[in-house]
Amino acid sequence: MSHEVGVVGGSAAGLFAAHLLARAGARVCVLEAAEDFDPSPRTLIVTGWMNETLGRLGKGALVNEIRQFELFTDGRAARISLRQPDLVIERSKLIRELARAAEASGAELLLGRRFVSMEPRGQALALHVERSQDAGAEEVRVRTVVGADGALSRVARLAGWPTQTTVPLVQAIVSLPHGMPSDTTRVWFIPEETPYFYWLIPDSPQRGVVGLIGEQGPATRQALERFLERQRLDPLEYQAARIPVYAKWIPVCRQFGSGQVYLVGDAAGHVKATTVGGIVTGFRGAMGVAENILNGRPGRRLRDLRRELDLHLLIRRVIHNFTQAQYSHLVDLLNAHARKDLEAHTRDEPGRVLWRLCLHQPRLLLFGLRALFHW
Ligand SMILES: Cc1cc2nc3c(=O)[nH]c(=O)nc-3n(C[C@H](O)[C@H](O)[C@H](O)COP(=O)(O)OP(=O)(O)OC[C@H]3O[C@@H](n4cnc5c(N)ncnc54)[C@H](O)[C@@H]3O)c2cc1C
Repeated sequence: MSHEVGVVGGSAAGLFAAHLLARAGARVCVLEAAEDFDPSPRTLIVTGWMNETLGRLGKGALVNEIRQFELFTDGRAARISLRQPDLVIERSKLIRELARAAEASGAELLLGRRFVSMEPRGQALALHVERSQDAGAEEVRVRTVVGADGALSRVARLAGWPTQTTVPLVQAIVSLPHGMPSDTTRVWFIPEETPYFYWLIPDSPQRGVVGLIGEQGPATRQALERFLERQRLDPLEYQAARIPVYAKWIPVCRQFGSGQVYLVGDAAGHVKATTVGGIVTGFRGAMGVAENILNGRPGRRLRDLRRELDLHLLIRRVIHNFTQAQYSHLVDLLNAHARKDLEAHTRDEPGRVLWRLCLHQPRLLLFGLRALFHW
């Protein structure tokens, strides 16, 4: 057996899992289809929980901090000042930093290696890999496979997990509107165009990204183009991909022959259903899976992650079919106490936020229940 663990996919979740496993002494290799760790630039916003999850890692990827959110719906606006700033990060920098950390911990990073298939071979699993440089074939033997190959995971499909539903996310880089503070993110709720929302996130005093999550690729791009026109913003460049929709928790481990297969990140659907953010939840899933592999049993981390992803799903079910009037009513219900709760807690603590919101504004609970059960 050449390695104990083979991680398929060298992006955020896979590299972090490889780093944790190698640091604990496991012999790990990462198989990444791309020829170098230079993923296309992508502006991401995460909560301060990224620092709590990654520790000292990821600091070099920080490009801006967000201290305020402005929410818009049908002429109304609400402002939320964050006690702990959100972090705007550049994905390509984050990936390169994680790759260096994984390598320094002892993981072997194999670039230009596309995972094609796997089969049980004695006590091990044989991974069949295609080299991009010369189209040659390789075989890597491992006892455990970690599928970190994204929303359309081949590892998941071959190991028998059901196919995930995905939604398109499209965003455009723009020059910031005149006078817009670079520490403020704007969010627009326009339910006749998207059941999610539009955002404008500054990544510097001059630039930002405007985007939305839609339900259908071409229509999502057209909706963004119309929105940019209405806001008088010129797109400098577009970024897009499909994101998995978390519909229910799926067990992250399966037996395959006498080996084990795990999933992390987008491959596992560890994406918040409210915002479709998957970076921090992907890292938390990677920690849970590493803990499971090292200790031979599931730990608390995966249980906590499951509870939180389920809470995000519940919130999404409540708001997914909101009308414009319901969004406006929601903003009206945000009294001073409720705003303070949103200011004090992040999106990565949905349980705490929901509990405090209901305590301080019980009408929100009633409003949510009505929307959920269509009363
Ligand atoms: C435009 C955009 C903006 C986003 N904004 C945010 C945001 O603001 N906040 C947030 O939290 N999330 C955001 N997301 C979501 C976030 O980027 C993803 O949840 C996260 O990147 C998933 O990481 P991952 O490591 O699981 O998978 P991925 O980043 O998809 O990586 C999968 C890796 O596997 C490799 N691979 C695939 N198949 C194979 C194979 N057969 N063999 C070998 N390697 C393979 C790929 O090359 C890739 O490197 C955004 C996504 C997009 C597209």
